[in-house]
Amino acid sequence: MKICIACGMPMKDAADYAMGDMTKEYCRFCARPDGTMQSFSEKKMGLTRFLVETQGFDEEAAVQAAVAMMRKLPAWEANFS
Ligand SMILES: [Zn+2]
Repeated sequence: MKICIACGMPMKDAADYAMGDMTKEYCRFCARPDGTMQSFSEKKMGLTRFLVETQGFDEEAAVQAAVAMMRKLPAWEANFS
């Protein structure tokens, strides 16, 4: 089973992959509508919004948590080096 390189989500079924394409390295939550992978800033914004809405984080804490999560993921290695 593969893990999304951009958010760490386990991808089990084709439906979990971007565009249902199991050759992709990232999941449907990390894909843009055209199937390409979101940028660092897009993903950071998306994760921040997700944490605010679902976990009740305030904006600043959510940004920090989003960055901490992304730091561990291979897709964003270059953004932290
Ligand atoms: Zn993902």
